[in-house]
Order: sequence, then C-alpha cells, then structure tokens
Amino acid sequence: MQFNIARIGLLIVCFCVFSQMSLARTSHSNLVQQQVDGVFDFTHWHSGDGAVPLDGRWAFYWQKQLSPHEWQTLQAPWFDLPATWDKEGASQSVYNGKGFATFTAKLINLPSDTTWGLIIPEQSTAFRLFINDDLVAEGGIAGVSFSSSEAYSGNQFIKLGELPANSKITWHVSNFHHASGGPWQTLIMGSYYELGLYHVVKTFDQALVVALALLTSLFLIIQHFIDRREKASALLSAFALVIAVRVGIMDNQVLYQLLGVLPWQLHIRVLYFTMLIAAPLILYWQHNTFPAELSENTARRVGYAFLPALISIIIFPSAWFTELLMPFQFMLVVVIAIYFWSLVKVILHKRRGGYYIVCGALLLSLAILHDIALYAQWLEDGRLWLTYGLLAFLLSLAVNMLYLRAEQKQQVESLSEQLMTANKQLKARVAQRTIELAEKADALEEANEKLQLLANIDDLTGVLNRRAFVEQLEMFARIKPDVALIMIDIDYFKRVNDAHGREVGDQVLKRLSSVLLDAIRGNDRVGRFGGEEFIILLQDISTAGLNSYCQRLLKEINDIDFSDIAPLAGITVSMGTTMGTLVDRNIDQLIQQADEAMYYVKNHGRNSFRHYTKQ
Ligand code: GH3
Ligand code: MG
Ligand code: MG
Repeated sequence: MQFNIARIGLLIVCFCVFSQMSLARTSHSNLVQQQVDGVFDFTHWHSGDGAVPLDGRWAFYWQKQLSPHEWQTLQAPWFDLPATWDKEGASQSVYNGKGFATFTAKLINLPSDTTWGLIIPEQSTAFRLFINDDLVAEGGIAGVSFSSSEAYSGNQFIKLGELPANSKITWHVSNFHHASGGPWQTLIMGSYYELGLYHVVKTFDQALVVALALLTSLFLIIQHFIDRREKASALLSAFALVIAVRVGIMDNQVLYQLLGVLPWQLHIRVLYFTMLIAAPLILYWQHNTFPAELSENTARRVGYAFLPALISIIIFPSAWFTELLMPFQFMLVVVIAIYFWSLVKVILHKRRGGYYIVCGALLLSLAILHDIALYAQWLEDGRLWLTYGLLAFLLSLAVNMLYLRAEQKQQVESLSEQLMTANKQLKARVAQRTIELAEKADALEEANEKLQLLANIDDLTGVLNRRAFVEQLEMFARIKPDVALIMIDIDYFKRVNDAHGREVGDQVLKRLSSVLLDAIRGNDRVGRFGGEEFIILLQDISTAGLNSYCQRLLKEINDIDFSDIAPLAGITVSMGTTMGTLVDRNIDQLIQQADEAMYYVKNHGRNSFRHYTKQ
C-alpha cells in the first residue's frame, strides 16, 4: 500500500515537472496586448520575448471574402478569437456554422530586426491568409459554397520573413463540411526560429506520445497472444492504438507526416470514430479487469448505445455527423461518469492494482481540467495537456495490467513450487517405500529361497531329500534323460547306533554324505532316500565308467576315518546300480531296479556293488 502511494506520488511529480517544462518551452509573450480592437501593438515586444498568440478582437466580415486592399479601417463587427462563429459569446451574433468570413487585424510597431514566423493551427475547415498584399498560406480551398470549398486539416508553420513596421492580416475562413466553423484556435506569431523550435518540440512531443502508445498497443497485443487470447490485453491494445491514431492525426499530425495525409472526409471520420470508440473499449476493459465493479451488462449497453453513433460516422456526410458533436460529447461524459463510478468502487473494494488506474485517471482529469482552464483563458498561455493525460492514463492501465499479470504469475509460480515440493516429498516417500518394499521383497525372496532350500535339503546331511531328488529326476527326464542311479545302504548301521549311540550314527551319516557330495560332478545329484539309504544320479557315464566309479566310491567309503568321533573302525555299504533313459513314468521303476540290485548285494555278502540285470 505504502509502496503504491510512493509510486503514484512519483508519477504525479514527474507529470507536473514535465508539464512545467512544456509550459516553459512554449511560453507565450503577453507583451502584445490590444489597446484598440483589431490592432496588435508590438511596441514592447522584442525578438526573444516569446511567441505572440494573436487572440483578441478581430474585425469580422460575414459571408465576405475581402482582398487585402478592400479593407482600410476596422469598422466591422468585432469577433473575439479564437472561436467558431456558431458559438454564442464569441461575438454579438451567432451565425450558422456553414458559411465563410473574412477576419482582419493590424500589426503595428513590428520590430524591424526580426525574421517572422507564423503557426496556423487547424481551422474548420479551410482558410487563406494574406500578410499585407501577399498570400502567405492556404489550407484546403476556402470557397464560398459547399462545392467550391475543400476542407483540410492540420497545423501549418510558415516563414514570413521581415515585415514592415505596420502590417495587415487578411484571413479568409470557409466552412461547409463541418457543423461548426471559424478560427477555433489561435494564430501564433513570433520569431521564426523560436517558433520553429516550439513547432519541432511540439511535433517531437506528439511523436513521442504516438510512439509510446503504439508500442504499448503492440506490446499488449503480443501479451494477448502469449496470455492465451486473454481479452483485457486485446481491449487495452485497441484502446492504445486508438489513442495513437487520434494523437497522430491531430495538431502537427505526425502520422500524416510519416505515412501521408488522409483525404479530409476520411480524416474527420477517423477523428470522430477514435473519439467515440475509445469509450466502449475502455469500459469493456474495465469490466474485464474489475468485473465486480463494472458489470458486463453496463459495458454491453454502452456498446449498443455507441454502435449507431459509430455507424453514423461511417455512413453519413461529415456535415451531418459533425452536427452530433454535442450528443457525442454527452455520451462520452456519461461513459466517463460510469467509468469514474466504477473506479470509486475499485478503490472502496481495495482491488489489487486499482491505484495505478486511479492515478492515471486523476492525471487525465488534471489534464482535461487544465485544458478547460486554458480554453476558458483562466490560465495564461501554454499548450494542451490532453495527449499527455491520455498517455499517462494509458500507461497506468498498462502498468495495472502488468502488475496483475506479474502477481498472477507469481501466484502460479509459488503454487507450482509448492506442487513441486509436494511432488518431491511424495517421490522421496515413494522411493523410500519402494526401497522398504524391495528390501522386504528381497528378504522374502531370500526367505523363500531359504525355505525352498530347506524344503529340498535334508537337514542332517545337507544332501537332497527324497522328494527333491525325485523332482530332479523328473526335471532330467525332460532335459537330459540318460542317467545312471546308484542306491547305497550302510551295512549293519543299526549296530553303529547301538554300539556308539544315535548321535555318532548321525555323524557317520554326515561324513558319508560329504564323501558322496565330493564324489559327484556339476550335473550329478546326491539324495538321502531313507534313514541310512542314499541315492546318486550320474550323468554322462558309460557302463565301464560306472563300474570303476562304484569301485572307487566303495573304497573311499571304506576309508572314511571316524576315529575322531568314536572308536569305529569304519563302515561299509552295499550299492546297487542301474542305467537307463528317464521318462516320467519309469522313474520309480529305475529306482526300484537300483534298489533290487542293492538288496542283491545285501543278501550276498554286502560291502560291494552290483549292476541291475533283468532276471
Ligand atoms: P543292513 O546291513 O541289513 O542294512 O543292516 P542295518 O542295521 O543297517 O539294518 P537297517 O538298514 O534295517 O537299519 C536301519 C537303521 O538305521 C535303523 C535305524 O536305527 C538307523 N537309522 C535310521 N535313520 C537314522 C538316523 O537318522 N540316525 C541314526 N543314528 N540312525 C538311523
Ligand atoms: Mg536300510
Ligand atoms: Mg542298512
């Protein structure tokens, strides 16, 4: 809030300083005052004293075009310039707007050492100007009828050169194309070089306003497309364009100087059109920016009210629609009132960014009041502030919009930041959870593997248990079915248990198992088939190989040393073997064959092996 006030204050100070600078630059001399009607006395004026506005009482010849030598004395009715002749108060009588007249004045005691210049502001709507006997300037064709006249627009700056001490101005003004006619702006006379500087500076000022407004418009329209066709920037861009065009074709007409002059009929339409269209545009913008303070209905109604006016400007002749200037101005006043009322609401509701607009609107009002004071001659000289007021207003709107946009963007950014943080936290949590789950899964897998192992491995001896061994046989039946089986049974094991105890018996089983495990290769398997019965599966072995394998194994078992666990000389085993091709159905059969061969050994002396043979 404090920040806003500081900024607004700064803006106002800048505006005032700038205005004072403009005033200083355009200071008009008040050394030339009319002692006698129709006479401008330059006795006290010297080059360097500033420009002389030739406003005051001029002789006025209605419906006459007098040549310079046709008037000698100033006995005509007086007319207080600047004014249009259809306005009451400008002279004793009010004349119809359409018509023509001659204005005359004397310039006396002109200093001789001066190169004179003259600024002729826009007249409505054509003129011809003589200094003494010379035609020095013309705007359009100042005819005596509609058909013989041609309207024009724009300011003129001309060089008069040195002038005789006493000179005459003869000024033909015609108007048939505009509702009101007459020299509504003051002729400005002075040193050609001073006026030139003033003219150039004014043109520059105007160009600056036009350029800034055009840039603002361009910037806003780009913003509009960036912002996904957001309405407010488009409306404000249009408003800025309207201001740029309007300022660019008024006074020194910088746009015309740059792009060429529009025909007057088109020019006057653009002038009126830009004046009117600005109002609904700004109301629509206000509605878009502060919908609660200005309803769409209001904006739309104003739009509908302005539509016929805008259409009339397009289709009617200039002489007609310019008659409607008063109603048009009334409409504008109504819009301004609606706008200001909504601004009051913006302030009351403490809408964000509203202060910028209020500040701009205040500057605009200040400029308008200043110009009114200037027209009413409450203020001495100076130039119109309206363009700067408009620019300040436009800039305030743009600043407001940028402010809101920036705020929105910040909100979006902080929201997305929050979102990102939340997302990160979520991700971290998910990751953590995943790790936990993975750990659990790993543990589970490990446990499963362990379980699997435990389920497959015989507790005591570490070789496959019977079920697992049979499963292995089933697997080999599918992938590598040619095998040899050796069934092994310890001889008189009961006696070991009986003599040394079961624990020693267990140790014996363990030691035997480790011998058996050492005796096999990668694809071979050892299983415990019963209490002290083991079975071996061998791959890739011939009958001869099996034979020597059994002999070697028998010997190795005989050689097992148990002395460290019990006074046990050693053990012997009986082995029965068989060879065959495994198929799912014959697994039991093959085992049976090995078993049979083993029992044969049991029954025939033990401590030996035998290959199964079919009886
Ligand atoms: P044979 O030469 O005829 O095979 O005589 P044997 O004494 O070995 O007779 P059998 O095979 O019938 O005896 C098996 C014995 O093995 C009976 C049981 O006490 C013993 N035994 C079985 N399982 C275990 C075990 O896990 N630990 C121990 N210590 N002894 C077991
Ligand atoms: Mg047995
Ligand atoms: Mg036995």
